[in-house]
This record gives sequence, structure tokens and C-alpha cells, in this order.
Amino acid sequence: MSKHHGKHRRGQSPGETGASASQRDVSHRKEAARGKADKKAEARRAGHRPPSAAHWAREAESRTTAAGETIDPRVAPAAAGIVTVQPGSRCDLEAIDANADGGLDKEEAKAALVTERARIATLQERLYAEHKRSLLVVFQAIDTGGKDGTIRAVFEGVNPQGCRVWSFKVPSAEESDHDFLWRYHAKAPARGMINVFNRSHYEDVLVVRVKDLVPAPVWRARYDQINYFERMLAAAGTTVLKFFLHISKDEQKERLEARIANPDKHWKFDPADLVERRSWDAYQAAFADALTACSTLHAPWHVVPANRKWYRNLLIARTIADTLEAMDPRFPEAQTGISGMTVPD
Ligand code: AMP
Ligand code: MG
Repeated sequence: MSKHHGKHRRGQSPGETGASASQRDVSHRKEAARGKADKKAEARRAGHRPPSAAHWAREAESRTTAAGETIDPRVAPAAAGIVTVQPGSRCDLEAIDANADGGLDKEEAKAALVTERARIATLQERLYAEHKRSLLVVFQAIDTGGKDGTIRAVFEGVNPQGCRVWSFKVPSAEESDHDFLWRYHAKAPARGMINVFNRSHYEDVLVVRVKDLVPAPVWRARYDQINYFERMLAAAGTTVLKFFLHISKDEQKERLEARIANPDKHWKFDPADLVERRSWDAYQAAFADALTACSTLHAPWHVVPANRKWYRNLLIARTIADTLEAMDPRFPEAQTGISGMTVPD
């Protein structure tokens, strides 16, 4: 008895043997179907499977869970000029102009940045005093993308006591001995704090994928793990803001050349960056997949045109200020009877 006895494939009558015209037709259809299935499997392997609309509907509904946990991350719309990846839709980085400047000139943008920084400083003081919620700002970009420069420009003037910046490098031996989220969770903001991640848990689906540091099923499973992690942070009162600094390949060349030409910038130049540059396309694909799979209602991804540093800084500062405003932090209730008190000599 054949192994396939009792089974028959669609379009083939049981027991049909020999090469008939209808069988050739069937095999063509099967081949086409197989091609489609292969494409789907290939897309899955590459991480190209955005969650369905139904998934996002469930996600929205579940903001208040049966246990009474409310996800209220107070996500504000990003500043005009930023492209927010809509949950469930594919992020197409090639369609986003890294050179955009919103029709502004540099001086205008710099003046506007000063205003946005003042808004951030005022609201940060309230967030710190309120001591209930927190803000996590994540920056990801290709090498030379401008993460350090953005942090310097946007957070200037913020009270250092209420703000922490964490830069993530190649994991240490101790970090590597834990689950991949361990080191990031340890640096998540405490109540009242703004924490900034210069690189983040996303490295574990970016550099790790491009350099093949773990098997594909391991990094692929991390998209969901990241979404749950960020959801848990949101449920605990942390608003998560994620910015991808989008530069063009030409711009990276110019920035690398500028680092080589200026001895004061040599400390920032890593010859390995030239090797990484060869993997430009692989990085862009990995970024697009991560932004697609991990742009959620509670923690959407924002793509920032970043060839022009002054435009990038303004858009990010404005979005952070708007987000803090939407969070609406309040000074705690003061004790009664303070006004009019006298201080003894
Ligand atoms: P930089 O930000 O230029 O100081 O470089 C930090 C380096 O650490 C970059 O080359 C990152 O790709 C690398 N890195 C950061 N996180 C990870 C990670 N989880 N696994 C492997 N490499 C990482
Ligand atoms: Mg570097």
C-alpha cells in the first residue's frame, strides 16, 4: 500500500495515474500554489508579516484588561514632518525622503528648537515632581545617523537629575548570560524620570540579524517579545517614544568622510563602520522589518528625516514636548496652610 493511499490532491481523481492533460494542468496549478507558499514562507523568514488589522483591533480593545490594567501611554501625534508607522502597515523607508526640511531654513528651525527645549524643561519638572509616570525615548539609526548629536541638542537644558541617558554597546559577558531584554529593562525609567536609550533592545533584531549572531528563529521571535515588553512598560506608566533617524547612503558617506578629515572626530571613527556600510541594504531591510513588526498603538515608531540635523532636532524636540504635554503631569497637592507661613530667624 502506498504511503499516500486514501489521500488525493485537489483536481486529481483518486487512483488517477499516467500523464494526462488534466494532470499537467494540475501540476501547473500546484507549482503556482507552491510558488506563492514559498514566497509567503520567504516573507515570514525575512520577518515580512505585519500583524493583521484584526490584531490591532484586539490590541486597542485590550487596553483595559479584565484584570483592570489600563494601558494609557498618552501617545501624542508626532510633529508634522515625521512619518509614524501605522500599526499593521508596512514601513517603506525608501518612500521617505531623508532630505526633507519642511520648507524651513536653518535659522528658523534653530530658533524654534529653543522654544521646544523650554517646553520640555518645564514639563519635565512637573513629571519629576508628580513622581507617578515616566517617559522612555528610544533612538535607533544606522552608524553616523545622528543619535548622539540629537541627544545633545534636544536635552540641553533639561535638569540632569530627572533625565538619564543610556548607550548600549556590544553586550558584556554578564549581559550575554541573560535574556536579551535584561539589560534594557534594568535601565527603564523610574517614576518621574525621562530615560533615553541611545541604541536599544532593537539592536537584538538589527545588528544581531545582519551579522547573524543568533539563529533566525531566535531573532524573529523577538518582535513579539519586544511588543510585550513595551506593552508591559506602558501598563506600568511609562510612555515609550521611538525615533528612527533616517539618513541616506550618500549622507552617511559624507559624514564618514568628515570624521576622517577632522582629527578631533577620529575618536568617533571606527574603521569597522566602513565594513558595516557594505551591509547598508541588509540594515535597511532589518530596520524596515523591525519598524513594521513593532509599531504598536502603545509604542509607535516615528521615522524622522535626518539628513538635515537642524530639522531632525526640531521635529524630535517638538514631539517630545507634545508627548509630555499630552501626559499632562501635575505638581502634587501641596500641604494646606503653607502660604503665609513665617520662617523663624
Ligand atoms: P557606538 O554606538 O558607535 O558606540 O557602537 C556600539 C556598537 O555596539 C555598535 O556597533 C552596535 O552595533 C553594537 N551593539 C549594540 N547593541 C548590540 C547587541 N545587542 N548585540 C551586538 N552588538 C551590539
Ligand atoms: Mg559608532
